[in-house]
Amino acid sequence: MVQTILHGIPVSAGISIGKVYFMHRAGMHVVSHEPVHPDRLGYELERLDMAFDRARQELKDALDKVPPELKEHASLIDSHLMILADPKLQGSARRILEEQCIEAEWALDQAVERIADVFAAIEDPYIRERIQDVRAVSERVMNHLALLDRDNGAAALAAKPLSNRVVLMANDLTPADTIEIEVEKIMSLATEQGGKTSHTGILARSLQIPAVVGVSGLCETVKDGDLVIVDGLNGKVIVNPEEAVLGTYGDLKYQFEKYHQTINQACQLPAETTDGFRIMVYANIELAEEVTAALDHGGEGIGLYRTEYAFMHRRQLPTEEELYEEYKDLASICAPRRVVFRTLDVGGDKIVGVEPTDEANPAMGLRAIRFCLRHEELFKRQIRAILRAALHGNAALMFPMISGLRELNQAKFILAKAQRELEAEGVPYAKDMPIGMMVELPSAVVIAEMLAPEVDFFSIGTNDLIQYSLGIDRTNRYVSYLYQPLHPAVVRSIKHVVDAGHREGIEVNVCGELASDPYCVPILMGMQVDGLSIAPQAIPGIKRIIRQATLEECKDLLRDVLAANTVSKINRQVKETVFKRFPEEVMFFSSLLDLDEG
Ligand code: PEP
Ligand code: MG
Repeated sequence: MVQTILHGIPVSAGISIGKVYFMHRAGMHVVSHEPVHPDRLGYELERLDMAFDRARQELKDALDKVPPELKEHASLIDSHLMILADPKLQGSARRILEEQCIEAEWALDQAVERIADVFAAIEDPYIRERIQDVRAVSERVMNHLALLDRDNGAAALAAKPLSNRVVLMANDLTPADTIEIEVEKIMSLATEQGGKTSHTGILARSLQIPAVVGVSGLCETVKDGDLVIVDGLNGKVIVNPEEAVLGTYGDLKYQFEKYHQTINQACQLPAETTDGFRIMVYANIELAEEVTAALDHGGEGIGLYRTEYAFMHRRQLPTEEELYEEYKDLASICAPRRVVFRTLDVGGDKIVGVEPTDEANPAMGLRAIRFCLRHEELFKRQIRAILRAALHGNAALMFPMISGLRELNQAKFILAKAQRELEAEGVPYAKDMPIGMMVELPSAVVIAEMLAPEVDFFSIGTNDLIQYSLGIDRTNRYVSYLYQPLHPAVVRSIKHVVDAGHREGIEVNVCGELASDPYCVPILMGMQVDGLSIAPQAIPGIKRIIRQATLEECKDLLRDVLAANTVSKINRQVKETVFKRFPEEVMFFSSLLDLDEG
């Protein structure tokens, strides 16, 4: 077999060598292409019918709720109901299932592809495009098939149990998909879509799985069962590796693991430079369960709890009590260490099933605080849960995507409302909880001095700040080469926010991926940020850099960086300095920087 090397974007460090398991398309629908035992045929037919029934019911319920002003959505739902009622889809899936004795998902998939062939031959482009509706309906049924599996006590992946650990590959994984992965079975991830800071990468890092995203040609080249190397250090996927390559990677894997053992041993020591500059290193987590990994890796608290995941992988939104229980557990496990609860940041590439998300430009649309201000009850529910949970530990609340004072005041107004309600109901809550905001929009950077007096702390979200400052969709691999964390505008923005916050006497932390980049951390230290909040897995290495560095050398580096006027000059400068000082860290960490250019 011929060795093929595919290139992508390294988003989670590490090396894995193993067999591929391909996940169906964009969703969590694991489609087995194997026949099932004839005894299971009846069950599969029943599952298929039930999934269609549930999809129908779901759409009927949705139809009842459509307000008059959204009539166009009603007609879309109507057309989807018609597709569901049309025997061409369900009938054909049933027939294929019976003929081939296969799983419902695979039968439905084939039925859709047959219909797609018919549509492809239609001349009228409008009608031809309607295949998208058939696909959307099929996706809905697929979701129910997966849920039915779960109802039967098995997770979606368990429908086709994995006996060995695998390299999971997919065209794309949404945050909602990745949450359902049976993590112990996955040794690494590779996807064809995705960019440097897409949430798939963020989750992969926190789960400590090597990952490469944006791999061109992945779906076309790689098959289930292929032997591959996923090189999460250099962004490569090597399919059917040659003997010698396997040997080299075996060695690299060994060195990587040994390095990790060494840094893990020292990870509980404080992050203090040799000349006495102390910086806090917190963890970013997506799931409450990650708190153990965060603390075990030396996290001094949780600097960013991305609370949206609890809202995303379920069909009904969580109640205040559920949220309270989850937040209370997290706050008390971490106590006396700080946990920063970021209020819901959905929209963009994080979808929650509250209303149709058909925005042409979701990253600039109804995202984060904008979404919450539009759904006040939902927002208040979460804030109440955080206020109550804060009594059980050292919690803080932080608003994402604040663009200006008006928005911040609106958010604080709802916070005050939640406090008044709890007061009136006699429900105990923390009255002195610190309130912070994320600085991730250029507008917030420019007016940082106006915002600082209104909050207790800033946390700079560089993932979005870079996206919005440079106009680069963070999930789009075609423009990922333009995602330049050390663009002079980005460096100056961060410095401006740190200085503005410090002038007002508030804490300024950085919680984007830049804070775990070995090349960028010395620059942030030179700015004297108060804390970094990073993936748990990155904490030991970043702490090691801090403990070996001096504040003076970081200030020198910052001075040079600020004096340079192009990204290439900055990257070259940083590469030389940091590589010399921290060779192991830069070798075993994936960087956001495009260092070839520098
Ligand atoms: C950021 O934008 O940098 C950030 C930390 O938030 P998220 O990645 O969740 O958007
Ligand atoms: Mg953000």
